[in-house]
Amino acid sequence: MEIIQTITLLVGIVLAALGGMVIRFWLGRRRVNRELAAAHYPKIKDLGTVKNLTILPLIDWETKDQSLTGEAGVSYLIRADETTILFDVGFNAQNEHPSPLLRNMETLGVSVSELDMVVISHNHLDHVGGMRHQRQKSFGLSGQPLDLKKLPAYVPIPLTHPTADVSTTEKPQPLAPGVATTGTIPRQLFFLGYTPEQSLAVNVEGKGIVLIVGCGHSTLQGIIDRAKMLFDAPLYGMVGGLHYPVTASREKKLGLPIQSILGTGKWPWTPVTCEDVKEAIGYLRERNPQLVSLSAHDSCDWSINAFRSAFGEAYKDLLVGEEISVD
Ligand SMILES: [Zn+2]
Ligand SMILES: [Zn+2]
Repeated sequence: MEIIQTITLLVGIVLAALGGMVIRFWLGRRRVNRELAAAHYPKIKDLGTVKNLTILPLIDWETKDQSLTGEAGVSYLIRADETTILFDVGFNAQNEHPSPLLRNMETLGVSVSELDMVVISHNHLDHVGGMRHQRQKSFGLSGQPLDLKKLPAYVPIPLTHPTADVSTTEKPQPLAPGVATTGTIPRQLFFLGYTPEQSLAVNVEGKGIVLIVGCGHSTLQGIIDRAKMLFDAPLYGMVGGLHYPVTASREKKLGLPIQSILGTGKWPWTPVTCEDVKEAIGYLRERNPQLVSLSAHDSCDWSINAFRSAFGEAYKDLLVGEEISVD
């Protein structure tokens, strides 16, 4: 009798938890839809342009060679003329010091002292330097604190850092000559909840806007639409994570492909499909981009191959240690 009562209680708890998540997701989607409908921003005038733009992946899933460490996270070094930006700070799943990010930086000859700013796309563990930072609403480049000496950091929600000069950049705004944040675009994720994410936009002279994206929860279409709202210049490129784990998930929890089922803005029983990827590719192709590079940290090989074959010469592999250059 006691066993039956215990089982009934456990089933009740699981059902209540699931019910709570369903209600949270449903309400969250309504909130996001309201916010997206209300998000009208004026054009960013006088952004300026840069002549040279390079993007050097410091952390991502695939690496150029064995001397570098890959992980299911993102950190890119962006050099836009005189401005050097660290975009996201990786995963550091084992909370190591020095972290894979710092080790890769050393191998690639990149120093923290050359950074002009840090930009965090969104508060997920694979972008803020681990679970501890995600929970504490902070970010960190390594397992032990690093003195960032008042380095400016632009973050999507109120995050803290003991030694950085942190500003929340919810609204679109310029960050440096030719460089802007798109401002945050929210998405409700079934498991991970309400997730505002910002992307970077760099205006390259004579070419157009290059979008640099962290996880892409805001969707390819949503990010392109935001860029259209903010800039007159055409879209030239899109680089980074766009979250298309269709046939596989890089991250698994309890054997579950969490990226495919629980990390999306869809109901868990309708995961991201090949059709979604084809639709997104079609949307991007209409803009005729000359540079496309998809992160493998949150997309499967099937999706990467679909992008590669759709964009031909414009497609560049995204590998830690392999600089992508626009000049
Ligand atoms: Zn991610
Ligand atoms: Zn994410």
